[in-house]
Amino acid sequence: MASHGSLLALVRERGGLSRRQLLDETGMSRGTLVGRLDALTRLGLVYEAESLGATGGRRARRIRFDDRGRVVLTVGIGHTHARVSVTDLLGSELRRADLPLHVDAGADAVLGPALDLAEKLVAAGQAERLAGVGVGVPAAVDPHTGWVLHPTTLPGWEPDAVVTAVRSRFGRPVVVENDARAAAVGECRSDTETLVAVKVATGIGCGIVVGGDVLRGAAGVAGDIGHVRVAGPRPEPVCRCGRTGCLAAHASGRALLARLAPHGFRTLADVVADLGHPAVRSGLAEAADVLGAALATTVTTVNPHRVVLGGTLGVLPPVVDGVRARVLDAVTERARPAVEASTLGGRATPRGLARLVVRRVFDPDAVDELVALGAAPGG
Ligand SMILES: [Zn+2]
Repeated sequence: MASHGSLLALVRERGGLSRRQLLDETGMSRGTLVGRLDALTRLGLVYEAESLGATGGRRARRIRFDDRGRVVLTVGIGHTHARVSVTDLLGSELRRADLPLHVDAGADAVLGPALDLAEKLVAAGQAERLAGVGVGVPAAVDPHTGWVLHPTTLPGWEPDAVVTAVRSRFGRPVVVENDARAAAVGECRSDTETLVAVKVATGIGCGIVVGGDVLRGAAGVAGDIGHVRVAGPRPEPVCRCGRTGCLAAHASGRALLARLAPHGFRTLADVVADLGHPAVRSGLAEAADVLGAALATTVTTVNPHRVVLGGTLGVLPPVVDGVRARVLDAVTERARPAVEASTLGGRATPRGLARLVVRRVFDPDAVDELVALGAAPGG
């Protein structure tokens, strides 16, 4: 028999059903169905929508998931800027604001201004209900606690800094996720797609989605390829994690800028503006080659439909072409994926974060818990 949560899942999945259809689909008694729908209606989760015609009398209205005015707040924190968005439940941005920052300045210095901006953005909405908050960070995240792992990536951040700060501000369910992994979820075109999404900007991040499910792994670092030691030009560069020869030390934006500094390049924007410069050309080609070689193993293991490259450097044609050539050369013909630049760009992370929040908040077990508590998601 369908619980409250699975009844809601059925209504959501099918875009609305009549009572008759719900009885047929679930096999529950009319009394049970009426009770469950009443509980879901009281929580603002379903409503009686359009009439289904004259055949069924006053009861013949379609029961729909009440997504009216429901929004998700997403905060995508990168190394140098944050993208704060209010999205609909599908992850399309309704409003957006950007904020320059430095993650190395510490959690308070980043989260304070970012969440101030987020509060303003939420307040600008009319008759909206905030379903939850999704935060992307350029670090590994424990999927159960939302704690930020790997203090080397975010120096000085307390593991629970993000979860604690967001909860105290918004009092809504919070999902914290690695930014590349959130982008991978956002890039998926269907619930069954298998894809590898790689972000190449200041650092290198990678998210893997298998058949619609995001891969997290035993320690929450599945797909975290930035600090795997790879074969590349010698001598092996020293990585900021303290090891030598990491992929990030060869192919990240930070590594590229270190190499290009003698030529006067200071930021990734400088690099993008001068792709014809010989040092830029050779730097990007080398980075793409090392990245492609590192991705070949991942591609063979996961066998994705697509490898999607994002981030300031990842979307550049010389990088996409270089990675594609290396991957296609290294893997067997049957394992060859499409290797392409992200067309969503910066919209991938908010979309992915919103999807993750919606999955968490309206998960059947979570809904059953709400019904037991009599609490409403999003007020
Ligand atoms: Zn490293």
